Amino acid sequence: MTDTVSITTAGGEPQPSLLDQIGARAEARSIPLAAHLDLTWKCNEGCVHCYLDHSVGDDMDTAEVKGVLDQLAAAGTMFLTLSGGEIMLRKDIFEIVAYARSLLFDVRLKTNGILISERDADRFAEMGVRQVNISIYSHRPEVHDAITRVPGSFARSIEAIRRLKSRGLTVEMRVPVFKGGADNYARLKALADELGVRILFDATITPRMDGGQAPVALNIDADTREEFYLDPAVTASLEDACAPPTPPGEELLNGHSCGAGFKSCYITPQGDVMPCVTFPLVCGSLRHSSFLAIWKSAPFLQIRGIRNRDLDTCSSCSSLSSCHRCPGLAFMEGNMRGPSIQDCQNTYAQTKVPTPLYPAAPLGSAPLRGPAHSGQFVPLAALLPAAGDRSYRESANY
Ligand code: SF4
Ligand code: SF4
Repeated sequence: MTDTVSITTAGGEPQPSLLDQIGARAEARSIPLAAHLDLTWKCNEGCVHCYLDHSVGDDMDTAEVKGVLDQLAAAGTMFLTLSGGEIMLRKDIFEIVAYARSLLFDVRLKTNGILISERDADRFAEMGVRQVNISIYSHRPEVHDAITRVPGSFARSIEAIRRLKSRGLTVEMRVPVFKGGADNYARLKALADELGVRILFDATITPRMDGGQAPVALNIDADTREEFYLDPAVTASLEDACAPPTPPGEELLNGHSCGAGFKSCYITPQGDVMPCVTFPLVCGSLRHSSFLAIWKSAPFLQIRGIRNRDLDTCSSCSSLSSCHRCPGLAFMEGNMRGPSIQDCQNTYAQTKVPTPLYPAAPLGSAPLRGPAHSGQFVPLAALLPAAGDRSYRESANY
């Protein structure tokens, strides 16, 4: 997802920014404007809430990654996020970033930063990397280090933020919020302000990508969630926190929940293509098909066929206009066309208007990857591999 701003004309009417206009055209024409590519799932931290299986190897090599970047450039991708796992564990990270910049991608990196030296920061700045995101889990070093399970990691991540920032790079401090982690948002906001970086809080912890539910148990409880959305430090970083719901209009009903599968996609280190890192529907393998063949394949086409008016329950929900509905979470809860309990709870916490699944159904009560929608829609969940089963990548279907 890209950051956008609006401009105001002399007449006072807000006009969409150039980025908004590009995004709207990309969505209308199904151009993969943004791609998120994980370079490895291996990591030098062991965060308690992580959704990845760090033991999965078989990462694409340098030539394969460059081939993927060539295909994305040809498909119209402009915004490239390189992430992991920990990208600095790739010995070819600078070669990959340099190649991506030679293709004129707008490059954003996600890293824990603990391996970034002064020289590394220089090189990223020289290459023209636009933004680096680094996660911080608490203003207290001992809490952060307990979550990453790496002593001293807080100090090293903060030092990386300073190094990158001092080179003129845009750095964003990401704060996933969950049980046992961040609990003083004002102190974190003050830390970000002192470092001169933007801060972004996120209180949604997702299941593991292989279907494991353990991280979901770390989601903050309902009372803490409501306090979270009322905290001034949080609301200052969320553009439309606590927006009161308004009746959905035609434009909203004809629109989509997000750009996943319409103008953005996710690629695993092994070359599997999905709509989003939070939407683990494997649509094809770049080791067996071209990117465009996968982008135009049935799973993506089915996703693009779903407008808000087609959604089960959500289409008639009075909070649709306030809800940041995530189709990936809904997919992982069993029906990509339905609501997700996490989004129903998030929306209720912000608006205090009861939603279809919350407070009627407590967080965590939904089956993960249960039966798919049983109507005319093809049950895409049936395409998913069993947890831990990587053999699907060898399937002749791809
Ligand atoms: S699938 Fe969910 S996380 Fe991914 S872009 Fe859509 S709303 Fe955001
Ligand atoms: S609050 Fe729940 S039912 Fe309403 S739009 Fe959001 S996810 Fe759908």
